[in-house]
Amino acid sequence: MNIPFLDMKAVNAPFADAIQRALCDTFMSGYYLCGPNTKTFQKKLAASCGSPLEAVAVSNGLDALRLIFKSLLLNGKLKEGDEVLVPANTYIASILPLTEMGLTPVLVEPSAETMNLDWEEALKKTTTATRALLVTHLYGTPCWNSDIAAEMRRRGVLIIEDNAQAIGAFIEDGRRTGSLGDAAAFSFYPTKNIGALGDAGAVTSQMPELIETVRALANYGSDRRYHNIYCGYNCRMDETQAAVLNIKLDALEEISRHRRATAALYDSLITNSLVVKPHIMPHEGQVWHQYVVRLKERDRFRDYLSARGIATDIHYATPPHRQPCYRGILEGDYPLTDLLAKEVVSLPIASVTDAQAVAIAKAINDFKP
Ligand SMILES: *Cc1c(COP(=O)(O)O)cnc(C)c1O
Repeated sequence: MNIPFLDMKAVNAPFADAIQRALCDTFMSGYYLCGPNTKTFQKKLAASCGSPLEAVAVSNGLDALRLIFKSLLLNGKLKEGDEVLVPANTYIASILPLTEMGLTPVLVEPSAETMNLDWEEALKKTTTATRALLVTHLYGTPCWNSDIAAEMRRRGVLIIEDNAQAIGAFIEDGRRTGSLGDAAAFSFYPTKNIGALGDAGAVTSQMPELIETVRALANYGSDRRYHNIYCGYNCRMDETQAAVLNIKLDALEEISRHRRATAALYDSLITNSLVVKPHIMPHEGQVWHQYVVRLKERDRFRDYLSARGIATDIHYATPPHRQPCYRGILEGDYPLTDLLAKEVVSLPIASVTDAQAVAIAKAINDFKP
C-alpha cells in the first residue's frame, strides 16, 4: 500500500483539460490582471455564498485577513489596541494580521467536541474593550452560534470569519460560511478545498463600505486610476488563477460531496476505541478540509500507519501561542489547545478512493496499544 496524504495531481486531474484550455485562453487574451476572469470569479464566489454579498478577489488568504482588518481600522470600526477574540486553536495566519496592526488578540480555547472556538468561552472573555471576534471554521467545520453571535453584535462586537478551510460549508439553517459574519476571508492555496495553481484568496462582505476599502487597498489604495486615497498594497489575484478557480468553483458541490462521503466512510468503518473520531454535525454542513482524529498514542499511531504505507499529517503540531515569534506576546495557559496539538492527526481525505479509505480504516482498527 502507498497512500500519500494528499496527491495534488490526482486532485486536479478531473479538471486538466478545462484548466489547460482556460490557461491558454487567458494567455492569448492579453489580460493578466483585473480582467474578465477576475470579474467572473467575484460574481461566482459571491453567488456560492448564497447571500446578497460582494466578493473581492485578492492575492492569498493571509492578505484577505490583513485587508479586512486594515479596512476596519481605516473606516474607524476598529482602533489600535482594541481586543479581538480569536481561537487559540487555529492556524497562525488567523492571528498574524492582528498583531501586525496593533490589535490585541485575546485567545479563546476550543470546544473539545468540535475543536473549534468555544462560543461560551468567547462570551466570557468579552470585555468593554472587545471590538471584534474572529472565528475560524477549522477543518471545514462551521463555527457558529446564532444566539451568542447576536448577543456579541448587541455589544457592538464585529464578527469576522476565517473561511480559508470551509468554502461551501453551511450551518443548520442552510446559511453558508463566508456569509455569516460582517466579513470573511477565503484562501485558495493549492491544498484548500478549492485550490489555485499557486496563491489566491478573497474577501466577502455585506458591508459596501468595507468592500470598497478592501478593493482600493488591494490596488495601491486607489479608488480610481492614479488617485490614491489610502497608502495601499498590491494584493491582486492573477487572471490565470481566476481562470482556474472559475472552473473549480463550478465543481464546489461535487468536491464537498466527495469529502463528505469519505468522512462518512471513515466514521462508519473506524471502530478502534483508542481513536476519537471527529464530531459529525447532523445537518451535514461540514466540508472536511481535514478529517482529524485524536488519540493519546498519536506519534506511535502515525509511525504504525506510515509503516503500512499510509501517510498522515498534523494540523497543527505547534499552536500559535507556542510559536517563537509570539514568545512574550501571546501569554496565558491554553491547556486544551496544547492537548489537541499533542493528540490530533489528519487522515488522507482529498485524494483517497473509497477502496483506500476502507483499507485505511482497517489498518486503524488493527492498531493496538
Ligand atoms: C490557509 C489558511 C490561511 C492562509 O491562507 P493563505 O492563502 O495560505 O495565505 C489562513 N487561515 C487558515 C485557517 C488557513 O487554513
